[in-house]
Amino acid sequence: MPNPPDDADARRAIAPVICYPVETLPQPDMALYSSARASMTKVDAVTVPPRDAATFTVPAGHIFRISSVEGPQVGDLNLWNARDLSERFYSGKTRALHGTHITTGDRMWSSFPAMRPMATVIHDTLDWYGIDSFGGSVHDVIGTRCDPYTHNLLAGGQYHHCCHSNLTRALADHMGVAPQEAEPHVHDVLNVFMCTGFTRDTGQYFMKASPVRPGDHIDFFAEIDLLGALSACPGGDCSSEHSSDTAPCYPLLVEVFKPESGALADWQAPEPNGYTRTHGR
Ligand SMILES: [Zn+2]
Repeated sequence: MPNPPDDADARRAIAPVICYPVETLPQPDMALYSSARASMTKVDAVTVPPRDAATFTVPAGHIFRISSVEGPQVGDLNLWNARDLSERFYSGKTRALHGTHITTGDRMWSSFPAMRPMATVIHDTLDWYGIDSFGGSVHDVIGTRCDPYTHNLLAGGQYHHCCHSNLTRALADHMGVAPQEAEPHVHDVLNVFMCTGFTRDTGQYFMKASPVRPGDHIDFFAEIDLLGALSACPGGDCSSEHSSDTAPCYPLLVEVFKPESGALADWQAPEPNGYTRTHGR
């Protein structure tokens, strides 16, 4: 290892700056969303079986809720523009804007070139958790999704109920195509209810038992017409391992709600990003 320079400590002592200050982001109208939520009625519900996934659709201006039922369970969420699957949730940019975990008031942003809010978190019964003494928090945008490729690399074998495969099968069924055709649309997820962080000493991604309990839920406002897919992770509460059938697993419930007519006043779906896409040419 090279010797550190004489001013190593001084260089390390430089204070960080936030990469993307969010003060100039268009701010969600949380009062409007709260009143919409207060008037809403249920129009659809889908139960996601353990170690499997299901799709659901949410019209723009509706609200969807993901709930823990029966037992502590983590979910892996994909979102697409229901009219154009090439516009999909962009975990990396959401992380860059809102941090490693999202909660009430944060947005799920879509991929380039649209890059607009797809969904806004408007209620989260796990808001109280905050950041624990290990640096862990809930609903992360740092993990990708458990998948059979990484599992094969690390442990060998063929496991077919990782979230990646569950999401692939669910989307394939929705599209009426083979899994291989649906697979490229599956993308990095929002890890709903999962409690994760990075270890302070080695910077490694860690997970710990989710604090979620039956009845806990997270509510999202759909900013555009959405197709969603949710996998009930084979890791269960993700307290020990995933990519196997070892952990106790439970279903997850997705419900879709329609606000009372007039509750959204003059709300309008966000337009695609304003960049010209000429890239200097
Ligand atoms: Zn998983």
